[in-house]
Amino acid sequence: MNIVTSIAAIQTQSRRWRMDGKSVALVPTMGYLHAGHISLVTRARELADITVVSIFVNPTQFSPSEDLTAYPRDLEADRKKCLIAGVDAIFLPAAEDMYPTGFSTWVNVEHLSQPLCGASRPTHFRGVATVVAKLFLAVLPDVAVFGWKDAQQAIVIRRMVRDLNFPIAIDIAPTLREPDGLAMSSRNLYLTPDERYRATSINRGLTRCREYFDQGERSAATLIAIVTGEIAAEGGEIEYVSCVDTSDLNALDHLDRDAIVAVAARFGRARLIDNVVLTA
Ligand code: AMP
Repeated sequence: MNIVTSIAAIQTQSRRWRMDGKSVALVPTMGYLHAGHISLVTRARELADITVVSIFVNPTQFSPSEDLTAYPRDLEADRKKCLIAGVDAIFLPAAEDMYPTGFSTWVNVEHLSQPLCGASRPTHFRGVATVVAKLFLAVLPDVAVFGWKDAQQAIVIRRMVRDLNFPIAIDIAPTLREPDGLAMSSRNLYLTPDERYRATSINRGLTRCREYFDQGERSAATLIAIVTGEIAAEGGEIEYVSCVDTSDLNALDHLDRDAIVAVAARFGRARLIDNVVLTA
């Protein structure tokens, strides 16, 4: 398994793979890999001959109030996990190569970037779309795998690929959870044991929401109240619980089409997001 740091080198390598008739899958990550990331690698290996994992803590998706330097990093552990998972190459670009002096070109996926996490993080998805576009143009994959855990991110990227004609298939894989239901996340590290326990209320609320939906409940207000109630009862500081149309992320009052109930809530230092997809 190679670790490639240069953009030109990964482009050359990718062209070679393709000349040899091999398809390439990319799994973009910010590192500090957990089993959720590895499940995307497993999916990528099913979809293509070669799997590349990118590890890049992207500064442009953090706001000035968020601590970029505190984001957890452990390259040696990531390297071992990738090796065991059968990754062919890690792409590990330097921030100064991704964003050279004078950098001024942005990819802005309008509308989809504004609700949910975009409301409190107005430049976040511009940073995400821009870095993913750059990773696509560096690794030149046939397919890229993202997680439903970050549903809005996956939907923004899917729109970008359609709008800009990237010749890349987007695969969105299910959320992997801890045994108690908490969605796996690099940010779970920030939780104290007590917060970690209380944070399971997010999945409990979403699971109850799904049960009510399966029994025929279609009122967004009722479903949102179920999730809000569970999290608030455990002292979570709710940023939003929203029920949106999966295709355009517009808020729904009545669930007469495919919907996502999405949550962002803080427990102590950790801002956690999760969601459930409800299929009409
Ligand atoms: P991150 O390193 O947090 O930027 O995540 C990289 C990719 O892994 C994104 O596509 C995430 O949606 C995905 N991911 C993060 N957590 C999980 C999880 N628990 N299950 C599945 N995919 C995940």
